[in-house]
Amino acid sequence: MPLRIGIDFDNTIACYDRLFAGLAAEMGVVATAKQAVRDAVRALPRGETRWREMQALAYGPRMGEATLFAGFTDFVRAAKGQGATLYIVSHKTERSNLTNAGPSFRTAARDWMTGLGFFSVMGFARNAVFFESTREEKVARIATLKLTHFIDDLPEVFAEPAFPAATTAVAFGGGPEDWPALAAHLFPQAAREFAA
Ligand SMILES: [Mg+2]
Repeated sequence: MPLRIGIDFDNTIACYDRLFAGLAAEMGVVATAKQAVRDAVRALPRGETRWREMQALAYGPRMGEATLFAGFTDFVRAAKGQGATLYIVSHKTERSNLTNAGPSFRTAARDWMTGLGFFSVMGFARNAVFFESTREEKVARIATLKLTHFIDDLPEVFAEPAFPAATTAVAFGGGPEDWPALAAHLFPQAAREFAA
């Protein structure tokens, strides 16, 4: 049976390390990865507010500076070659609760995907991308889509009581080897073809 694979968006497809490092540098903070930036900014005066302002910038007007995790494009190619259907299911609010300026987070994400060829070269269907307002709605979507696998960086998603038992939870670690390893695990046939 062909696989139906759902994929989280933030910190699973879209990598924010470089973007947050840039935003941090603009406020005189040196840190190279998103978590390190968060910890450093939160330690500043008004740190919690400044961190939330930084997030509103990153997921909105500065979204274009996010990068694609290494190996994702090859994973998509392998999946398509093996007849798998891919979905993106993300918990993403429409806007920041701090500011209404700039594009909505969802529009910024769709524009970023369009620019990287998700709906052309990579072959994602536009109606295969779902943005949900809460984690509960995200898990409900995963159930409705009857996914065989769901890939996410947040273990809390898998721990939701309504996370479907029939869907295999796949934890994404965020490293450069994660997508190649997942491709080799889910599509060993395609991995052999790449190697040949
Ligand atoms: Mg995520």
